[in-house]
Amino acid sequence: MRQKTVAGNWKMNKTLPEGLELAAAVLDGVKGLAPSARVILAPAFIHLQAVAALLKGSPVGLAAQNCSPEEKGAFTGEVSAGMIRSCGAEYVIIGHSERRAWFGEDGPLLQKKITRAISSHLVPIYCVGETLEEREAKRQFDVVQGQLQEAVFHLDPEQAGKIIFAYEPVWAIGTGRNAAADQAQEMHSYIRTILAKKFGAHLAASASILYGGSCNPQNAAALFAQPDVDGGLIGGASLNAADFLSIIKSAN
Ligand code: PEP
Repeated sequence: MRQKTVAGNWKMNKTLPEGLELAAAVLDGVKGLAPSARVILAPAFIHLQAVAALLKGSPVGLAAQNCSPEEKGAFTGEVSAGMIRSCGAEYVIIGHSERRAWFGEDGPLLQKKITRAISSHLVPIYCVGETLEEREAKRQFDVVQGQLQEAVFHLDPEQAGKIIFAYEPVWAIGTGRNAAADQAQEMHSYIRTILAKKFGAHLAASASILYGGSCNPQNAAALFAQPDVDGGLIGGASLNAADFLSIIKSAN
């Protein structure tokens, strides 16, 4: 059976003291709950080291929200996968729809980022998902298939097996309008089919595919009960420890 994962994407929220307070509250709650789910926090780059120190030795994992495709060098303002790893993070979110939409991140760039993350011993959390316009045009499956193809299909099965996938319909992110459980299940099952065709049945059966998009304490249980939904990538609701812990409980 696949382990469930609940990851909190804090985006550009929380000062350092606020982030440490939130991480400490989540850690406390996780210690009490001893959840079967894997729990991951993704604060801003600048807070990674401090949050890593707080989480050290605990079951809570740490993710960055982005990384450079380059190894090192004259790329002012960028942060490399190796730097992230050296700060104590083990995961990195790649291809979030906000980065695709606001920072022009496209398939070729994301392909490089995924390769770089894996070679730097970070686990990519690769986000895919269609816009509302694409869903209304019934293009959601083609879009998601394309996003997988352009960023992940160059890998061999061993490398691809390291990736955590996140289906995040853009129309559900931060909108309060989550995908219905059956819509999420339909897409997660489709993603698993694509992975099976490209990388084989074993990889497809063991891949973690998270749902993201207005997941909250009220809807998490129904989403996580779907057979192909292996937990969630949580934005807004991860900024409040009680809400996030309630979602973690739903993944048990
Ligand atoms: C996200 O940005 O990854 C996300 C899922 O956001 P929200 O939960 O706020 O919709």
